[in-house]
Amino acid sequence: MNAIQTALETRSSSLLDVENIRADFPILGITVNDKPLVYLDNAASSQMPRQVIDRLVHYQTKQHANIHRGVHYLSEVATSEFEVARRKLQHFINAREEREVIFTSGTTEAINLVMHGYGRKYICAGDEIILTTLEHHANIVPWQMLAEEKGARIRVVPVNDAGELLVDEYEKLFNERTKFVGVTHVSNALGSINPVKEMIAFAHARGVPVLVDGAQAAPHTAVDVQDLDCDFYAFSGHKLCGPTGIGILYGRASILEDMQPFKGGGDMILSVTFEKTTYNTIPHKFEAGTPPIAAAIGLGAAVDYLSGIGMDAIAAHEHALLKYATDQVQSMPGVRIIGTAGQKAAVLSFAVNGVHPHDIGTLLNQEGIAVRTGHHCAQPVMQRFKVPATSRASFAFYNTLDEVDALVAGIRNVQKIFT
Ligand code: PMP
Repeated sequence: MNAIQTALETRSSSLLDVENIRADFPILGITVNDKPLVYLDNAASSQMPRQVIDRLVHYQTKQHANIHRGVHYLSEVATSEFEVARRKLQHFINAREEREVIFTSGTTEAINLVMHGYGRKYICAGDEIILTTLEHHANIVPWQMLAEEKGARIRVVPVNDAGELLVDEYEKLFNERTKFVGVTHVSNALGSINPVKEMIAFAHARGVPVLVDGAQAAPHTAVDVQDLDCDFYAFSGHKLCGPTGIGILYGRASILEDMQPFKGGGDMILSVTFEKTTYNTIPHKFEAGTPPIAAAIGLGAAVDYLSGIGMDAIAAHEHALLKYATDQVQSMPGVRIIGTAGQKAAVLSFAVNGVHPHDIGTLLNQEGIAVRTGHHCAQPVMQRFKVPATSRASFAFYNTLDEVDALVAGIRNVQKIFT
């Protein structure tokens, strides 16, 4: 199917009422450099619908107090709303139990929690941790810190030229020293969707637990942690229409119970004397101090909003946008798409001959188009594809084919300026 056919088909059969959806997002109506905003930086942070903004306002104006410690009305309301949000997240990822959902400040903190809580307890000198070339720095650096502290070793799964993990190579990396696997569900730099379910099954058959970095997957596809059978799954609220400063770590209850706490302080204890502290039960053992209560409740509203639209409909619409954009960009002379995996989420990383990515970003910005340029906190991916940086357009369910057209016209304009 060519680009025009895709466009016609998507326009006539889109599963989403995108115009009405866009009306929920006040920010999508602004102009940038006197042009309507074309927001294609969703992999960095998505925008927030009025339903989530209103929920935050309602909380702050009618329900706010500190949680878990008060007997007064507002404290009880805030506590109850915070725990309701936890249950919403539980259902969003189909976790067995709500205590398997830990609120964190985001994916980065969730991975650091696992590194400290699990890694520092169980990983020893000579042990091996398997990561992949496609990891975001958030799923590399904590493990390197651990490896350095313990004398453990990081092994890395390579990718082919399309940006697909070489699963055979992954399997070959296993040996009796393998103690942990960390893998991103979707690559933020290339969009590759990794075969995490198969990778988890392979690791489990060898008794090795797996952490999945779901930062780029949870916003775009239905996640079922029971079906994946992962041990840990992490994602951030700000990439799925929620607030910044909040995210979750899903952990299998039996593993979380045996882990050591990450941060010490209030709320994560049952009793404290100067001789001994007894820790609280999960998930509270991992939620020291006052959590971002409003943000957690806002994230609950965000997953309600996404579930209301339907994750399958979201995935289908974004896939159509990606296909339409890919068809056009790959036929442009002098433009190279970086990341052409068979299974991809709606991320289009590209390089334009003779033009630095930052110049592309700056020129597109003059047209009101927001893309990200740089190494996307995935320098090993850049090294693998021998580029210092890429330009990255990343789509959300509120993007339109017209916005893809604007991007393509913008890239043509950049090429004209540089030739
Ligand atoms: N992992 C991946 C795959 C990401 O895309 C990101 C955000 N770019 C992160 C981890 C880190 O997320 P946060 O900054 O919200 O902690």
